[in-house]
Amino acid sequence: MNEKVNGITLRAVNYKDSDKILTVFALEKGKITVGAKGVRKANAKMKQISEPFCFAESMLAEKSGRFTVTEINSFDAFYPIRCDIVKYYAGMTALELTDAILPDRLESAGHFVLLVEFLKKLAYKPINPVNLLVKFFYDVALEHGYSINLASCGRCGEVIEEKVFLSLKDGCCVCEGCKKQGENGFSIDTYKYLKRVSEGDLDIKDKETAKNGLRFFAYYFSKVISVNLKCLSTLIEM
Ligand SMILES: [Zn+2]
Repeated sequence: MNEKVNGITLRAVNYKDSDKILTVFALEKGKITVGAKGVRKANAKMKQISEPFCFAESMLAEKSGRFTVTEINSFDAFYPIRCDIVKYYAGMTALELTDAILPDRLESAGHFVLLVEFLKKLAYKPINPVNLLVKFFYDVALEHGYSINLASCGRCGEVIEEKVFLSLKDGCCVCEGCKKQGENGFSIDTYKYLKRVSEGDLDIKDKETAKNGLRFFAYYFSKVISVNLKCLSTLIEM
């Protein structure tokens, strides 16, 4: 059976002499594994789909539960992401998180839209890639039910001004008066940064604080979904 899907290539590994096995996040099917034959040959017609970030409409042939791509119509390869090392690692981190957080074959239109919008902005808008990635983290966590309330203290509702603590269990930040045993404190500057980004302010210039924002989410995702994002570690070390 043949069917058309709109998908983003998350990952590709070499297979046999000239093939690749792709992990594609398709709007209509969720995360799927797709065989791409001959794409490592010079002048291969479907070469583009075998590169991470490629956003394309593909024709898939399904046989015994396995998909093979037979035709593609590429919408966007988000080429500028490959020309800047920070953009590249921010983009790769978003793909890695997408791969890690999505179970196989579960549709998630909300996440799909977040990813496409993120890649578009990363490629074509003059927005700080780290701030953009932190906002993507916040939105993806919200989309998948791991939301983190940064607006005010998650218990008393007061504005947090001086000391802030993280409740992993309740998915919120709390003030000193409300903190329970085992809830660790973190930097108030990092908290204020995360709060501003979550509200859509992506014009923050302090690089070190932004890196702490990345470290916060590296920790958060390692705890709530048990994933250590490799590209994120590289980005933090840059
Ligand atoms: Zn409180």
